[in-house]
Amino acid sequence: MKQQKLLIPTLREVPSDAEVTSHKLMMRAGLIRQLVSGVYTYLPLGFKVLKKVEAIVREEMNRSEAQEILTSAIQPAELWQESGRWDAYGPELMRFKDRHDRDFVLGPTHEEVFTSLMRDEINSYKKLPVTIYQIQTKYRDERRPRFGVIRAREFIMKDAYSFDVDTAGLDESYQAMYDAYHRTFKRCGLNYRAIEADGGAIGGEGGTHEFMALSEIGEDTIVHCPTCGFAANIEKAENIKVPKQQQNLEELTLIETPNQKSIKELASFLQVEEKTIIKTLLYKADEQQIVVLIAGDDEVNDIKLKNLLDATNVSMLQDDEIEALLGQKPGFLGPKGLPANLRIIADYKVEAMNNAVIGANKKDYHYKNANPGRDFNVEQFADLRNIQLGDPCPKCNTPVLFDRGIEVGHVFKLGTKYSKALRAKFLDENGKEQLMVMGCYGIGVSRTVAAIVEQHSDENGIIWPKEVAPFHVHVIPINVKNEKQYEVALNIYNDLLAKGVEVLFDDRLDRAGSKFKDADLIGIPLRIVVGGKVDEGFVELKYRKTGESRDLEITQVTSVLL
Ligand code: ATP
Ligand code: MG
Ligand code: MG
Ligand code: MG
Repeated sequence: MKQQKLLIPTLREVPSDAEVTSHKLMMRAGLIRQLVSGVYTYLPLGFKVLKKVEAIVREEMNRSEAQEILTSAIQPAELWQESGRWDAYGPELMRFKDRHDRDFVLGPTHEEVFTSLMRDEINSYKKLPVTIYQIQTKYRDERRPRFGVIRAREFIMKDAYSFDVDTAGLDESYQAMYDAYHRTFKRCGLNYRAIEADGGAIGGEGGTHEFMALSEIGEDTIVHCPTCGFAANIEKAENIKVPKQQQNLEELTLIETPNQKSIKELASFLQVEEKTIIKTLLYKADEQQIVVLIAGDDEVNDIKLKNLLDATNVSMLQDDEIEALLGQKPGFLGPKGLPANLRIIADYKVEAMNNAVIGANKKDYHYKNANPGRDFNVEQFADLRNIQLGDPCPKCNTPVLFDRGIEVGHVFKLGTKYSKALRAKFLDENGKEQLMVMGCYGIGVSRTVAAIVEQHSDENGIIWPKEVAPFHVHVIPINVKNEKQYEVALNIYNDLLAKGVEVLFDDRLDRAGSKFKDADLIGIPLRIVVGGKVDEGFVELKYRKTGESRDLEITQVTSVLL
């Protein structure tokens, strides 16, 4: 597509009501606009990404043999009265009357509609099991819509419902959805965790899991055990309390973002020079899932740490190896007497990673491939790091750790709650009436888009993972008035289009600097810049994620990219 006429209204300023990275960037990159609180318009780029996520969800649903249908957002009140939720659901339910004074709701979810459909259409065990789903607009009058499309009042959800003859069947249907969710969120490029969840308002008899995109802006607290892998929503883990320090994480998110503003703030918070901080934050090499933990503020701690690790298979890393790995010289964070909560942030990040590099402020005291819990005793570690650990894990007694998560998906075993209320029955092999055994499965499609942005950005803008990127390649002639540049760029654009590559062509007259700023902001993975070097037969290839660039012969472009 050509950019000149495409509706991508990028903003240089951060909208004042946007509190979190994804909301800011989705506004700034021209993906969405708010119509009224919690209700959004998706502009071309936002819509494209939404459709990509939708396509992944659809493919994985179909792969698990779920069948797609489409029902209305409008639901008659009678169904909700039958299920008992007309009274139970509360003010989140958007209700309205038609001209005949009949009550309706705008569906926040569709258990009633799907159950009544099955009640009417299926009466024999021969037609079961079946899983049906839709990708459709949901309405919830959220008390506090916020974070852009993360908590909206109108949003896109994939909701699926399974109907089985018995609980053994439900277990299988549930497992199929659970597996499909893992495939889906992996393909979306999310760093997530599947956790045991609380039944909540939908209720039900069996198990339930939530899929949580890990993020410090997440509204849910996740408890997890570094030893046995137990992971649950804090609401489910009744006996576990969140230590005070960790409850305050939200206030500290600013130090996670290595942009100039946060560096300034962090520097003044720590009372150190800005350049010290820059060095430290640059340690993070997200793509490789490596974070440097700043262990030990003094040599005594460094040595204690070394002793702890000596008995493990964690290998020591020389300072120059770290430099090669991270592209940065190792350093150490700030002065002695670091604020305790800051250390927790560092540890917090590390325990979520499998191959952390941990290190010290002393030459050659860094280690790679460390996994707290596996490689050293978490309690000793916590003691050494002065971390307040959680209560014991309900499965294995190790002190638990905490994460924050954005709930992007949820799977429930409902049992017969709805089939009983709505009388969804079938005849079994003996001609006896039985209740269908149900499961329900939701994915917040629009929320997933925001969660992806939340995890994939830098100070210049979004960095789309390839599978969900609105375009794969961004072709940018620096000066469209230069005939040669324009022609070469246009040819590359047309060649790639003909080969089925999704390309955005920046045919705007704007200055190069402004075009590049926009390109960084909207985050297309690969950029081809057509500039002065066309005369020698070259264009520049640049990767958004790494910033790495190289010259490429014009004739090579399509073959290199395909
Ligand atoms: P939350 O705990 O965030 O309020 P929920 O548990 O009420 O979500 P479910 O009823 O489990 O949500 O709905 C299935 C999925 O729909 C959720 O996992 C989430 O991804 C998405 N979702 C729920 N509410 C919203 C919302 N207000 N805006 C965007 N997506 C939402
Ligand atoms: Mg909710
Ligand atoms: Mg929830
Ligand atoms: Mg939920």
